[in-house]
Amino acid sequence: MHIAIVGTGYVGLVSGACFADFGFQVTCVDVDAERIRALERGDVPFYEPGLPELVARNTSAGRLGFTTNLPSAVRDATVVFLAVGTPEGPDGDADISQLAAAAVDVAHCLDGYRVIATKSTVPVGTGAWLDGHIRAHVRQPADFDVVSNPEFLREGSAVHDFLRPDRVVIGANTDRARETMREVYRPLYLIETPIVLTNLETAELIKYASNAYLAVKVSFINEMANLCDRAGADVHVVAKAMGLDKRIGPKFLHAGPGFGGSCFPKDTRALAASGRRAGTPQRLVESAIEINDRQRDMAYAKIVEALGGAKGRRVAILGLAFKPNTSDVREAPAIELCRRLVDAGAHVSAYDPVASDEAALALGGHAGGVTFQTDAQAALKDAECAVIVTEWNEFRSLDLAEARDLMARPVLVDLRNLHDPGQAVESGFEYYCTGRQSLAGSRIEPKRATPTG
Ligand code: NAD
Repeated sequence: MHIAIVGTGYVGLVSGACFADFGFQVTCVDVDAERIRALERGDVPFYEPGLPELVARNTSAGRLGFTTNLPSAVRDATVVFLAVGTPEGPDGDADISQLAAAAVDVAHCLDGYRVIATKSTVPVGTGAWLDGHIRAHVRQPADFDVVSNPEFLREGSAVHDFLRPDRVVIGANTDRARETMREVYRPLYLIETPIVLTNLETAELIKYASNAYLAVKVSFINEMANLCDRAGADVHVVAKAMGLDKRIGPKFLHAGPGFGGSCFPKDTRALAASGRRAGTPQRLVESAIEINDRQRDMAYAKIVEALGGAKGRRVAILGLAFKPNTSDVREAPAIELCRRLVDAGAHVSAYDPVASDEAALALGGHAGGVTFQTDAQAALKDAECAVIVTEWNEFRSLDLAEARDLMARPVLVDLRNLHDPGQAVESGFEYYCTGRQSLAGSRIEPKRATPTG
């Protein structure tokens, strides 16, 4: 079977490389000619563990190819996956213009039967609309089915997630489409991956419901952390004990500076917009969004409090990516914090293991106020405050004594709660964290070092 994938971003490229690894003949298409040229040279345009090896293996086996010529890819394909971006549009709704444009290109070259499967995250009702949209643009009588096949991979473990998913969701309205999709996912049937077969609308909503539920969980624990700070409780222990309850589970219960990334912020806002449009407001999701915005403000306020004002202060930002193991900085808390600090007149020295280039691009005019360093030690040198924003492993194992000696003032704002408050204070740090102030402050207070400088 031949497969065409339209869009070679995180979802398209990972899906294409993994389908090729299943043994299918895959052609990945993109309108970005530079990206296609890079892929033809073997360069993966973003950081994703395991992906370069997978791409190289399948390219040299002749199962994976790249092109800007969509008709040539669609000609031989039985299934055409649409994996283009669906960024936030006006009013928070998803902007499906990339999808609409890609669908017209596909419609123009349809001849025999094809399954057109949407992997992009799209609002409920988009599949039905897409069917009519494609029908309106075909140039000859064409037989096709639109399918919804939302993607659940996580950046940073995308290859693993694609090859070993918790479930595959297929929304299809005909037996022929369902059979074709079963064939595509046969290797996952063999390892007993649960496959959820449903209609288009349900599949579309499953994706938003899943992301929104996780976002609600994050906002919930963040609110709990704020109460812990006031009440003298430890959110780390609260979350751990909650997570031991199998009905709750331990994932997505980490307090921090609020969720970011290419999915949660835009998907929660799109779901809220869908709810408003349908006259069924999604109040829980809307609250999660509001709490998240406030959490960002609180993270910034915590840094300014730790610094005693931002103007003219030297701040080390550790971590720029929205989470570890990715170079993606879309809606990353660190980007917003850098912007605000630069605007307030602080000198920012930042380090991320892989995301500095992407961060410089995202910061635009603010990038001039940030010095990008190639290691954590360089960022910490002479800083008056260090802020851990992304939970990269190397920040967990940061040598606190060395960090203290490098800095002008030993002040640590640990937005991800990576360090033990007691150890941080014993190492001489004035230590700020999220939902564990009782440990950083009153209980160990007598051991707190006097800031110098
Ligand atoms: P991305 O922005 O990284 O990549 C999109 C790609 O599509 C770009 O390379 C762009 O040039 C290309 N493109 C745009 N219009 C095109 C066209 N007409 N023809 C061919 N190529 C075109 O996006 P992404 O992060 O891979 O996300 C894609 C979709 O998958 C989104 O809807 C997103 O919400 C969803 N999703 C993303 C993730 C994730 O972790 N990134 C996870 C699950 C679902």
